[in-house]
Amino acid sequence: MSNAFADGKAASAAPPDGLAVLEQRRSTAETFGIPLAVLAELTHRCPLQCPYCSNPVALDRGGSELTTEEWKKVLGELAEIGVLQIHFSGGEPTARRDLVELVRHATDVGLYTNLITSAVLLTREKLSALADAGLCHVQISFQGNEPVVADRVAGLKNAHERKIEAAKWTRELDLPLTVNAVMHRQNLHQLADIIQMAVGLDADRLEIANVQYYGWALKNRAALMPTQEQIEAASRIVEDAAMRLKGTLAIDYVVPDYYALRPKKCMGGWGRQFFNISPAGKILPCHAAESITGLEFDSVRSNRSIAWIWQNSEAFNRYRGTGWMKEPCRSCEYREVDLGGCRCQAFALTGDAGNTDPACTLSPMHEQIFKDAEREAAAGENRFLYRNFAGGTLETEGEHGA
Ligand code: SF4
Ligand code: SF4
Repeated sequence: MSNAFADGKAASAAPPDGLAVLEQRRSTAETFGIPLAVLAELTHRCPLQCPYCSNPVALDRGGSELTTEEWKKVLGELAEIGVLQIHFSGGEPTARRDLVELVRHATDVGLYTNLITSAVLLTREKLSALADAGLCHVQISFQGNEPVVADRVAGLKNAHERKIEAAKWTRELDLPLTVNAVMHRQNLHQLADIIQMAVGLDADRLEIANVQYYGWALKNRAALMPTQEQIEAASRIVEDAAMRLKGTLAIDYVVPDYYALRPKKCMGGWGRQFFNISPAGKILPCHAAESITGLEFDSVRSNRSIAWIWQNSEAFNRYRGTGWMKEPCRSCEYREVDLGGCRCQAFALTGDAGNTDPACTLSPMHEQIFKDAEREAAAGENRFLYRNFAGGTLETEGEHGA
């Protein structure tokens, strides 16, 4: 999974016609408050090693993954309680041999299906089988606009070339395509070309997300943090492209927290609009939530229903709404606007998930953290710590080049 979806800040695929039709059926989600879309992280296995990966640093091993039958049961239950859309993600969801079967089952129970993929394991036959099983939408992550940068960031040779091919097959099979690009100091110079690449691939939508710094990305912050000048240039490029390409390519843009005055309403608010299911079956308010120690997350393997967990579990209720807030959030006029920002970032940077997100200028820690980040960006330490099951591997010179 790219950093972008799961950040939930540039999350949804283009609202395609199929989904609009489903929404007209008026979901019972309105009654239960169940989210309309859920992210199913089928596996943490992935052939790529992106240094900003939004998966937790402690990855779920293959042996702990839900079985085909368990996922089918989950999909049925989600449809029953009013979920309309399922995002199959990971890790790399195509690493699961049962993906076609799961897509077919999701289709049979009435879910709109989106595949969020690095695409390097796809063949035309596999994609065609997924389309036949009812797959509605494909979202492919790109690490750059050409192999030298892109393959290095992905930590895999020839990855870029395979992605381009898979994007072409997607359109040949008449599936809507979203291009997802996670941006940072070492690929922001390619932003204008990435936008052109998305146009050339006939994508419907482009999600440009600046890295959010927790988990793997926090470990790699020195290598990823953009400079202020890069962010200013990027905003101009996006603004210009959004106007120029109106009607051709829809562009979502997520600015980096570190250069904002106030944080984002992360995931639409903790336990408000979103949950994801981890490979081992835990139901999480966001993909990074397991990084917060001391919170117990219920599993689909427990004897509790998904709806019960969403509504009643301690973890979901801990940071819902505004009652948990301390100062300065508690008496702040923006508390209902941003809900205090990101709990995972607050935990990662301050050690307490109940603190104000330090991305906010009103946080007592903001200034120090912002200064550290600027210093890191200026120092230009470029080596990546690649994401893997071993806890990360430091890049060596000349590795992964095209
Ligand atoms: S390593 Fe890259 S492609 Fe794989 S799950 Fe993480 S972000 Fe996605
Ligand atoms: S103090 Fe809290 S509520 Fe106010 S702007 Fe900052 S994060 Fe948002």
